[in-house]
Amino acid sequence: IEPPKLKLSKSGEAAADLKVNETQKSNGSSTEWTPSSWTTKPIKQDVIYDDRGAVNKALAKLERLPPIVTPTEIIRLRNSLRDVALGKAFLLQGGDCAELFDYCEDNAIDSKIKLLLQMSLVLIYGAYKPVVRIARMAGQFAKPRSSPTEMYEGREIPSFRGDILNGYDVKERTPDPARLVSAYFHSATTLNYIRASLASGIADLHAPLEWELGHVKDEKIKAQYIRIVDNITDSLRFMKTVGADSPSSGLESVDLYTSHEGLLLEYEQSLTRRLRHPPSHPSLQHPSTSPSSQLNGRPEPSTDGKGWYNTSAHFLWIGDRTRQLTGAHVEYFRGLENPIGIKVGPTMTSGELVSLLDILNPTKSIGKITLITRYGEHKITSLLPSHIRAVRESGHIVVWQCDPMHGNTKSTPSGVKTRQFSSILSEVGSALRIHREEGSFLGGVHLELTGEAVTECVGGSEGLTEGDLGVNYTTYCDPRLNEKQALELAFLVAGHYRE
Ligand code: PEP
Ligand code: MN
Repeated sequence: IEPPKLKLSKSGEAAADLKVNETQKSNGSSTEWTPSSWTTKPIKQDVIYDDRGAVNKALAKLERLPPIVTPTEIIRLRNSLRDVALGKAFLLQGGDCAELFDYCEDNAIDSKIKLLLQMSLVLIYGAYKPVVRIARMAGQFAKPRSSPTEMYEGREIPSFRGDILNGYDVKERTPDPARLVSAYFHSATTLNYIRASLASGIADLHAPLEWELGHVKDEKIKAQYIRIVDNITDSLRFMKTVGADSPSSGLESVDLYTSHEGLLLEYEQSLTRRLRHPPSHPSLQHPSTSPSSQLNGRPEPSTDGKGWYNTSAHFLWIGDRTRQLTGAHVEYFRGLENPIGIKVGPTMTSGELVSLLDILNPTKSIGKITLITRYGEHKITSLLPSHIRAVRESGHIVVWQCDPMHGNTKSTPSGVKTRQFSSILSEVGSALRIHREEGSFLGGVHLELTGEAVTECVGGSEGLTEGDLGVNYTTYCDPRLNEKQALELAFLVAGHYRE
């Protein structure tokens, strides 16, 4: 079914008065980017609301609300991802497939932060590299769907498209404009609690044993984890003895960034603001040598010291269903200063991939783009090598991240969506190996996980079977790794570097 036609009338065109780039006007090669220029392009996964007036009111409200994140934080992450692209750090990104408003609650947030911290500890120890952490949290509320409708008790009803749009409850499937503003407040509240927890020392490396292994009963995993913690505690004691453990050593706090799929463009546009670059902005640190004719209508970063920042999250990615070269999502993303991701599925050709990089990152800023590959355990061997070579030949330097979840989703005979843990491990293992063979390196992993003891993916050292899926299957979209499976995966990646 073709997605519904886009509508051109948007409330509050924040950028309508943006100065036209003279170079572009004279050579006519491309149109000027504005936060709303995406509305002139064909769009996939669009939403039709019954009450356009209520949508405009919600968007006007969002346009007045303050940024959830700031340019200083966004650029700090972008610079850290430059380190990842250059092999100096590792990227760990994870969280729910579909974050619900109901997950905005201390236990659910705590357990996910702790899991990401535990995993990063394992990775730092294994890879001898700093780990950049990005949560799929505080805004992962919009879901692309393969079909706009589904069958329920013999009738066709709209599919659940994420809490920002409609409700999972079958009585709440009509898109509700009030959810747009609610999404903002749930994002802000979640991030507020994350910030407060981190500032209160939740991530203090002096007390890693406090990040107790909640549901992990497996003795082998427990022993592996405790051995790492003991080693770190030992090293800290040594650093304290030699006086290297000062309050400014950074051991008592860590950064945790937020991310979501940039799917619902009206929402994203409303939080896109023209703001001053921090002094650490790459255009000020590493002046571009590319002529402005390569910018293709994208805003020139340095003309007034400002740029367009999506202030709803530090990092946003384009989904595999909305990455068409001439589509609305690519148009919207090409104007942003934020570091961005592109999902790379099995239908991506090398030509398309390089064109996407040229459109989204014409100045070839290092680490600006993260390629999130998600081919499936069998397809990766034939697809990844040619993508690596094409990107290398293009001169772009990207973060290569493996999403071993989305190409490995299966249905059980009774129709329950699941993933085999062994398939997930196999795709990550292949990604590590293929990058190494190609003279490249895997920069990070992108996972769907939760700190709860869910039974959604089968396999793992616990040996979950299809028969166990019913025990605690609570996802509203894709099956997630539980705490134990996620840690096992971190050990596998860490082990690769210790080989
Ligand atoms: C997702 O990350 O939840 C998702 C929908 O991924 P993809 O766009 O790769 O299918
Ligand atoms: Mn998913």
